[in-house]
Amino acid sequence: MIIIMKLGASKQNIDNVLGIIRTNGLEPHLSDGKEVTIIGVIGDKTRLMNQNLEIVDGVERIVSVTESYKLANKKFHPEKTVVKVGNTSIGGDEFTIMSGPCAVESEKQVLETAQAIKKCGAQILRGGAYKPRTSPYSFQGLEEDGLRLMKAAREATGLAIVCEVTSLAAIGTAVKYVDMLQIGARNMQNFYLLKEAGKTGLPVLLKRGLSATIDEWLNAAEYIMSEGNQNVVLCERGIRTFETATRNTLDISAIPVIRTKSHLPVIVDPSHATGVRDYVAPLAKCAVAAGADGLMIETHPCPEKALSDGPQSLTFAQFDTLCNELRPYIALSGKKF
Ligand code: PEP
Ligand code: MN
Repeated sequence: MIIIMKLGASKQNIDNVLGIIRTNGLEPHLSDGKEVTIIGVIGDKTRLMNQNLEIVDGVERIVSVTESYKLANKKFHPEKTVVKVGNTSIGGDEFTIMSGPCAVESEKQVLETAQAIKKCGAQILRGGAYKPRTSPYSFQGLEEDGLRLMKAAREATGLAIVCEVTSLAAIGTAVKYVDMLQIGARNMQNFYLLKEAGKTGLPVLLKRGLSATIDEWLNAAEYIMSEGNQNVVLCERGIRTFETATRNTLDISAIPVIRTKSHLPVIVDPSHATGVRDYVAPLAKCAVAAGADGLMIETHPCPEKALSDGPQSLTFAQFDTLCNELRPYIALSGKKF
């Protein structure tokens, strides 16, 4: 952390700041310029957290040199993390494809989907049982019945399953059924939910918030990890911008940025990023090229009849074609699928 003193700050101001730093057990490094004085602080800056240094007399501003997330930070954990989910892993040599309906609707729908995506090589079945919908009058999900159907599909196919949780009660129920918890975009900064998901020890798929910066996203991951759960996978699912031609704007640059800042695996969800079925395949290919560890793609036996997100869901035939088209891209990226 660097403290920049105001132009012409008095010696008394400077000594006062040095004193605060020392009293909190840290070592200040003074750089006394002709006009501006800069004080560097090395060590655990959380010790200064309650000192409100930015409003101390003579202080111009404080500049952080290290990020506030530590456990999710590549600087402190250079090796890539591989997250085990059921009998598959995300972030290792294998490219992961998760697919399934936006919402679990019926036994037939989930089972047919699980079988179809498995044939194409997907390793994880997705399906929402608790749906965070914009309107309270839209389908809200089958809740525990939906989780039961997901578990049955897992038993029938051996696929791992991931389901979104939207409340503490949902977490309590989901832990009995799922291999991985999903925290959706709308809950990315629900810090209480993040901590509770962390406590379960289950792998967590953390979607990027609608208007979250990468720094905020990694701090959200830190909340889960600070509960002793290092099994976090990040999912870029588009951010809200001024563009209206797509549901969101896929921030492809987030993939290389995450790669440089964090050791956590990162996957891309082109379905929610675009909201349009035709745009899913090209962006899925971009995600592979950008270095993603996997993809999340919505599929439905009959997208026209889907209770949610039909327009962005692929048919099984379209999903099959996409998986085959992706194979050469995945091979080029150095992963197996
Ligand atoms: C979902 O995956 O079904 C979902 C609601 O996604 P997001 O939280 O990214 O909108
Ligand atoms: Mn959806």
